[in-house]
Amino acid sequence: MMYKRYECANCDFYEIAKYDLHKEKCPACGHNYHVFEEDIDEDRYSWLFNTIKNHFYFENFVIRSNSFLFIGNITSDFSKIRETFENMGYYSFIRKKEGKIYLHLFKAKSQANRELYSQ
Ligand SMILES: [Zn+2]
Repeated sequence: MMYKRYECANCDFYEIAKYDLHKEKCPACGHNYHVFEEDIDEDRYSWLFNTIKNHFYFENFVIRSNSFLFIGNITSDFSKIRETFENMGYYSFIRKKEGKIYLHLFKAKSQANRELYSQ
């Protein structure tokens, strides 16, 4: 499946999106993105899709250098999502933006990471 890869030339931040993000600049440093096509083996993420489908309807899926991002709408309670992914070793949080829900999943490596990402 062809995804779009957005890569910053200035820092090591990248985003690989199932559908176009319509972004020109890196959100981490503001430098211009380079955009490529990348062939992604979606089977690698089937564990994630199988888990999310009971809780979240997603329009876009983004792989970032330090997290996964689903954009769409919640179809169950966030507390269930949080619990489910915590059991899989991921720390989740949501933001509302332009009428959509942004669900971020960070690999929960340490307490320090959690505190960093919850700010
Ligand atoms: Zn950058």
